[in-house]
Amino acid sequence: MATAQTLMEMYEAMLERFGHQGWWPGDGPLEVCIGAILTQNTNWTNVEKALGNLRAAGVMSISAIAHMDHDALAELIRPAGYFNIKAKRLKNFISHVFESCGDDIAAFLDRSAATLQSELMGINGIGRETADSIILYAAGKPTFVIDRYTCRLMARHGLTCPEDDYEQVKDLFESSLPEDLGLWKDYHAQIVAVGKQYCRPKAKCAGCPLESFPHDPVAGDFAQ
Ligand code: SF4
Repeated sequence: MATAQTLMEMYEAMLERFGHQGWWPGDGPLEVCIGAILTQNTNWTNVEKALGNLRAAGVMSISAIAHMDHDALAELIRPAGYFNIKAKRLKNFISHVFESCGDDIAAFLDRSAATLQSELMGINGIGRETADSIILYAAGKPTFVIDRYTCRLMARHGLTCPEDDYEQVKDLFESSLPEDLGLWKDYHAQIVAVGKQYCRPKAKCAGCPLESFPHDPVAGDFAQ
């Protein structure tokens, strides 16, 4: 109960500072899925350029990407970085959807969170964070997204142990917060905002919206 209250108070402090983040950016569920795959290890501005290239080339559809050759797709998504690897991951995802649902991304996403998670995790190159991002933001199903910002922030605030894994951190949020999709979507976005500006590998606690909550900026091995 105390943790639940603390988590809500932390959210309110971040929301007051940053305002609602309106995540996930992207025009419709297919773009959200593609964005979730392309955003690994790069910033969103670069992903937007890659999405813009796909749109401009008239290939923003499952069937169009499914039928593109690797080099052409890699060239279009080049701004997102690691474009050869990401083109393979994107193709793996798109081929999986195309084989099961054709061009109908809504049909693919219209499955339970557990089914989606197991299908997505079976696609080569789709990790836990990407799968959960697709489930929460594209499918609109309840699952809390954990990333390195979340693990760092939570450990520094003593709400998790530095060695806790993805499932343990995720379980803390899911068992403490009300199951409110809007809250879960925006909570993750607020953590990313804090993580980018303040809770970096070397914490900049002065001026952070969470500065008034008990914390240890050097807790755990997050200073790289
Ligand atoms: S920067 Fe400091 S106050 Fe802000 S979230 Fe990280 S540990 Fe907490």
